[in-house]
Amino acid sequence: MDRLGSSKMTHRCGHPLSSVPAIEQHEAYLIRAAFPCQHCLCEMARKQALDTHAYVNLQQLSPGMAAFVVEVTRTSDELGDLLAAVGYAKRGRSRDELTPGELASGAADEVWRKEFWFATSTDPQHVISLVDHIKLEMSWLGEYLPGGVTSIDFCSFPS
Ligand SMILES: [Zn+2]
Repeated sequence: MDRLGSSKMTHRCGHPLSSVPAIEQHEAYLIRAAFPCQHCLCEMARKQALDTHAYVNLQQLSPGMAAFVVEVTRTSDELGDLLAAVGYAKRGRSRDELTPGELASGAADEVWRKEFWFATSTDPQHVISLVDHIKLEMSWLGEYLPGGVTSIDFCSFPS
């Protein structure tokens, strides 16, 4: 394997790993190399007519704890494999800020969900760092959505 950070690193499909400096700092960066690249995964979604969408929301998950929650709908199996590798899990769709999706039961409309928890009493500076982290997450995830970043919605839920 090539040296870390080398532009010669490739995805499983053989295409080169894109090198956007900010994204290289993200934990998903190297994991992504084990999967087909964003172009190949977008192409798969298009062939399967999957209009993959991501929804980012704030949910109250327990007293004193809230989380930024990302839910990705209508994914190809291959994108699902990548999402599972970077910390997403299958769940039912959330209905609103107070009604997170049920545990996965195999329903057809389940989503891939990731939660970024914080205490509601936490230092606002920490929440701002978390928001920056979510933005980074959405900037790389957006490349994997056939509609790009326009397929990412903030403060709205899967319908
Ligand atoms: Zn590729």
